[in-house]
Amino acid sequence: MVKNPGDPYPLVQVEHYERYVGAEVVERILEKARPLQDLRVAHVNSTYYGGGVAELLSPLTLLMNSVGMVTEWRAIQGPPDFFNITKKMHNALQGADIHLTPMKATIYEEVVYENAVRNRLDHDRVVIHDPQPLPIVRHSRKRGPWIWRCHVDLSNPEPSLWAYLKPFVEQYDATVLSIPEYARELSIPQLFFMPAIDPFSIKNREMHEAEIEERLQHHHIPTDLPLVVQVSRFDHWKDPEGVVAAWRLARRETPCTLVLLGNMASDDPEGQRVYEQVMRHRDERLIVLSREDTALVNALQRRAAVVVQKSLREGFGLTVAEAMWKGTPVIGGNVGGIRHQLEDGHNGFLVDSVEHCAARIVQLLRSPKLRHQLGQHAHETVRRRFLLTRYLEQYLDLFNAFEA
Ligand code: UDP
Repeated sequence: MVKNPGDPYPLVQVEHYERYVGAEVVERILEKARPLQDLRVAHVNSTYYGGGVAELLSPLTLLMNSVGMVTEWRAIQGPPDFFNITKKMHNALQGADIHLTPMKATIYEEVVYENAVRNRLDHDRVVIHDPQPLPIVRHSRKRGPWIWRCHVDLSNPEPSLWAYLKPFVEQYDATVLSIPEYARELSIPQLFFMPAIDPFSIKNREMHEAEIEERLQHHHIPTDLPLVVQVSRFDHWKDPEGVVAAWRLARRETPCTLVLLGNMASDDPEGQRVYEQVMRHRDERLIVLSREDTALVNALQRRAAVVVQKSLREGFGLTVAEAMWKGTPVIGGNVGGIRHQLEDGHNGFLVDSVEHCAARIVQLLRSPKLRHQLGQHAHETVRRRFLLTRYLEQYLDLFNAFEA
């Protein structure tokens, strides 16, 4: 990676993407960034680690700085009570039931207020991510537009919760959702930006065979049989039980090892319980790992014969794009953002049931040619549509629209 003069470490610059997206795109992005030089931008979410939002903000905030905007990233803090409530909200926004008592609403609003006091959000553009910090807009002294960036699947929110949150949302100047299916009836503009991946990160960069082998051996992952892999936070929406059931059916037809690699996010209190449930299935051919090892994610997504992301709800599903980038065929749940990444039969498969998933696993394991073909198309899909430059450009367009 090229160092910029004055940079002690070689941070990724937008120019580095030229080899993937071409000089014209890089030039266009730099042109769009020109009117925004020194603009002060804040992104606010609820965790610095774990889950797709932190995964995105980490490279995005650096790339925004690299094109001249003074971009900060803040994560709100709160006690476990707060995160228990916000996790229930997250689940209910994706359709689960919720019993939001006045006491819980008070805890939620008070903790967000405390964070408003601690964080002076007087930036030219403020982007608030997801429901956890949503009400912070009430306490802002707006110096510029505020945007609510919601990453969850909003197609069918629990009605009482949505009625409670909607007035907060409408205090923003715009909302950004991942796909048009998540649009709600709102008095503010709604835009649609799908997330994207950083091809230069440890998780996504090229890896030599020897490095892949070393990571797998380090974690005692057997490689004598083809690997079926799902990489996901331990969360019911990711349907780890369904993946296990599909793998059990598939292995009757063709031998394979299942690896479930998961982690937990600091704003997700349900992870430990789901992890313990999944651990009960472990045997020598069903490996369950909870490790904070980004290179292992890369190695598994590369070495897998098939990556599965059998989610029941999925705002976008970065893990899908990550595996596709590596040329690995992906079988995804036919839901939410996964549907916008996988074109069934062209660059992967979409499935609606355990049996369907099992049949696709068997089909792929039996055909190296099909795996190669889908993997090639998958890589090309990500190159064209899901690299971070596209996401950055959408933000630049949005920020410029407010400038006009
Ligand atoms: N991830 C990881 N280690 C794990 C599990 C997940 O690094 O053990 C990463 C994964 O590679 C992806 C992100 O966490 O970058 C999850 O994002 P996604 O959009 O797939 O799901 P979310 O967790 O936001 O629902």
